[in-house]
Amino acid sequence: MPSSETVTNWAGNVTFSATRVHRPATVDELRRVVAGAPSVRVLGSGHSFNRIADADAGGALVSVAGLPAEISVDHERSTVTVAAGLRYAQVAAHLQAEGLALANLASLPHISVTGACATATHGSGDGNRSLASAVAALDLVGPDGDLVRLSREADGDAFHGAAVNLGALGVVTAVTLDVEPTFDVAQHVYTGLALDALAENVADVFGAAYSVSAFTDWHAPEAMLWLKRRCDTADGGPPARTWFGATPADRPHHPVPGVPATHCTEQLGVPGPWHERLPHFRPDFTPSSGEELQSEFFLPREAAPAAFAALRALGARLAPVLQVSELRTVAAEELWLSPAYHRDSLAVHLTWIKDPVAVAPVLAAVEEQLAPLGARPHWGKLFSATPGAAAELYERASDFRKLMDLHDPAGKFRNAFVDSVYQGGAA
Ligand SMILES: Cc1cc2nc3c(=O)[nH]c(=O)nc-3n(C[C@H](O)[C@H](O)[C@H](O)COP(=O)(O)OP(=O)(O)OC[C@H]3O[C@@H](n4cnc5c(N)ncnc54)[C@H](O)[C@@H]3O)c2cc1C
Repeated sequence: MPSSETVTNWAGNVTFSATRVHRPATVDELRRVVAGAPSVRVLGSGHSFNRIADADAGGALVSVAGLPAEISVDHERSTVTVAAGLRYAQVAAHLQAEGLALANLASLPHISVTGACATATHGSGDGNRSLASAVAALDLVGPDGDLVRLSREADGDAFHGAAVNLGALGVVTAVTLDVEPTFDVAQHVYTGLALDALAENVADVFGAAYSVSAFTDWHAPEAMLWLKRRCDTADGGPPARTWFGATPADRPHHPVPGVPATHCTEQLGVPGPWHERLPHFRPDFTPSSGEELQSEFFLPREAAPAAFAALRALGARLAPVLQVSELRTVAAEELWLSPAYHRDSLAVHLTWIKDPVAVAPVLAAVEEQLAPLGARPHWGKLFSATPGAAAELYERASDFRKLMDLHDPAGKFRNAFVDSVYQGGAA
């Protein structure tokens, strides 16, 4: 029997409606919980900033973190199958020990694989798609406690709808991911890139390395660049001394100005394995909670200069509530609910102070400016439009609704967030 508790997300800005989390230790136990509950939502590692993972009143909130922590590599197929509750840090360490790698990682390796893929979490890189693009198969428990396996191989286009699923198709118990041979990455930080130079050279800047992030507050006229170069490709060469007017940093940096870089992955061009360079933060630093809120908007890459101009115009309003903004690129992909669906994208991320009331009007102003440029919000972060209005920005939203009907005809896996996506509608 689960015990009574106060359940919050990582940032602490969401207290979930459920006061109990079911933590089954076996898939059979999970099947019984699902079959017996009127409605079910799954909580991953709780790193989303909105109510996407919440269960409605009377519904069951379930964690799969207690299922056996299995990781099984299929060298022939170049895949790994991992228990759904595992975090990227755990999977990455195992893969590295086997001489394998994932193509990309998010900024923080502590997020669960399943929760990250469910919201189309991403890293950066002109040629890198979201983390969910690596998903080759999903094992789920369906609404009656039935076992379902969906795969890219067997389900074709419908699988593009299932990989980014908002937790709405069932409880995922295992995820199969594509892997590749391990590779080293060297991380170089440049400071002092003028925002004007960034706007004029978007393709060159973001195309300069395997993964590129630009950090700015939109108030100061410059950005800091983090270049993650793959040492096994042509972009592994040493960077020029000055580059579009920016210069290589002579000490490690944190994304937020003034914060010590102690918890950041190694910089200064020291090569190291992929999983110790692609995230910005080290796996051995365990942030149990965060003093921040986050939002992120995906734009067609060609809208970058207009988006930069709009954000710079908001610089004075952003200053009191913004810790830092990060720009990344994501390659176009087929996943129906990926914000990078059929669009090479620029993702504009905003790390806010942890003051939802002060942030709300500024977030709304950002959305107002970016919406006409085609902005799609990150499913796991804060946005002021309704989830239903966000869903209207996707050509395949109605196909996703049909997929929900197919796998969950009575809506057991829906909550208010997913109901809104299901219904669609205006902001
Ligand atoms: C410090 C920090 C850094 C971040 N960095 C990035 C970043 O670099 N890039 C980026 O894109 N995002 C980033 N995020 C956002 C984060 O990756 C997403 O919010 C992601 O969804 C979090 O995964 P989670 O496991 O915590 O999921 P949760 O927030 O717990 O849940 C997210 C969704 O996944 C579903 N879900 C989870 N597990 C299952 C399961 N087993 N079966 C079915 N559904 C499931 C939930 O029901 C919910 O709908 C960051 C967040 C934080 C706090």
